[in-house]
Amino acid sequence: MTTTVGNTEHFHTRPQWTCSVCAQAWPCDSAKVNLLAEYRAFPSLLKVYLSAQMYDALDDLTAEGGAPPNLYERFLSWTRVGPSVL
Ligand SMILES: [Zn+2]
Repeated sequence: MTTTVGNTEHFHTRPQWTCSVCAQAWPCDSAKVNLLAEYRAFPSLLKVYLSAQMYDALDDLTAEGGAPPNLYERFLSWTRVGPSVL
């Protein structure tokens, strides 16, 4: 028995930090939904994970020479949204 649902991972590509599937800035809307579901029982771990991703992104994006965008807004501010909005 196989399933194709969820096999398309919305994961980041480095060093651009865009989504490998939909090419939006990562975490894209689909990645956010997936992450909220995956870490539903462990919201603090989601923040730890995203903080680590944010610092990796900061390294990559500043290495490109440009000023980094507001990475806190992009990586962490949306995690305050409870799963009830899903
Ligand atoms: Zn995506």
